[in-house]
Amino acid sequence: MSNQQERDPNKKPETRFATKLIHFGSEIDEHTGASSVPIYQASTFHHHDIFNPPVHDYSRSGNPTRQALEDYIAVLEGGVRGFAFASGMAAISTAFLLFSTGDHVIVTEDVYGGTYRLLTTVLNRLGIDSTFVDMTDFAAVRAALKPNTKAVFMETPSNPTLKITDIGEIAAWAKRHDLITLLDNTFMTPYHQRPIELGVDIVLHSATKFLGGHSDVLAGLAVAADDGLARRLKQLQNGLGTVLGSQESWLLMRGMKTLQARMEHSERSARKLAEWLNAHPAVTHVYFPGLADHPRRDVHEKQSKGYGAVVSFDVGDGERAKAVLSRVKIPLVAVSLGAVESILSYPAMMSHAAMPPEVRQERGITDGLLRYSVGLEDIDDLIADLDQALNG
Ligand SMILES: *Cc1c(COP(=O)(O)O)cnc(C)c1O
Repeated sequence: MSNQQERDPNKKPETRFATKLIHFGSEIDEHTGASSVPIYQASTFHHHDIFNPPVHDYSRSGNPTRQALEDYIAVLEGGVRGFAFASGMAAISTAFLLFSTGDHVIVTEDVYGGTYRLLTTVLNRLGIDSTFVDMTDFAAVRAALKPNTKAVFMETPSNPTLKITDIGEIAAWAKRHDLITLLDNTFMTPYHQRPIELGVDIVLHSATKFLGGHSDVLAGLAVAADDGLARRLKQLQNGLGTVLGSQESWLLMRGMKTLQARMEHSERSARKLAEWLNAHPAVTHVYFPGLADHPRRDVHEKQSKGYGAVVSFDVGDGERAKAVLSRVKIPLVAVSLGAVESILSYPAMMSHAAMPPEVRQERGITDGLLRYSVGLEDIDDLIADLDQALNG
């Protein structure tokens, strides 16, 4: 039985997001009153009474620290049950194994590179077929439907050009065709966007990013909207053994408690950075859903409470991009995003290096494109640093 179920609903009032982040139900150790859930560093659990087995009997199947985290993310996303995995890709891989040989899935064309790799080099060998479509084009999504289609996989805003998918529109259409909808909510987090409320069946996260928030934990999370899918995900998580360890579960919860404070700060800074970049003569294009001319900004505003903290921008060509990367002094120049420190990455040579150059160009992932994940530093320092890097 999960701690979420053990909570006395009469004891706690219905609360808002910021309060839920701190008082999510399993924040206090039941046995000692300790101010955080203990790290249950145990692989197995003693059966005091063989006829009455303990709640958790083996840590792959269930661990109290991981359970607290799983209940936590379920509360934040508004689903029935959460699951914690060894990485974002472990969560995504496990969810895709809901499908079988002969099944077909429709996937957003600029999906995370690791998800693309999973679909095109692993799942295809198992006979799970995928079609990649531009999900900003609803007609294209509908045209991709086949008799054996079982699911739609969304990611919005997408990476790195922050294209916006209309979550509610696609989820409603998918429901009419009996398709399962999955959504990678890594960029927005449940603070900014709650896909289950818009009709999505399974929400996925690379918790390595904003949820963990400190570039020190690799983790993935999934949340199911209904009991049937929750049971199937539980069976897969246990069967595949793709679970998150108790140390990482604890660290992730520690990071998640400050999610709102971090996201608010970073988003405010990201807005300022995007406006500043938009006016900079050395920048040819800025991608940020908060900018007035960002395509489908209205759709984003309908389904999300904020714009996130990732800003992509084009400096014209590869030489200039490399010059900026070598001149910046504050951000980490690295793969990844969503941390206390700002992270500047170079999609053409990092996350999207495996993509054929002509496909990259077509999707706006040019040699001049940089992606800035705004951290918690003073925004004026970040802007001054980027200004000197852009001006050379
Ligand atoms: C990083 C990332 C992933 C993969 O997560 P890992 O924790 O690195 O396995 C999946 N989706 C998105 C959008 C990501 O940014």
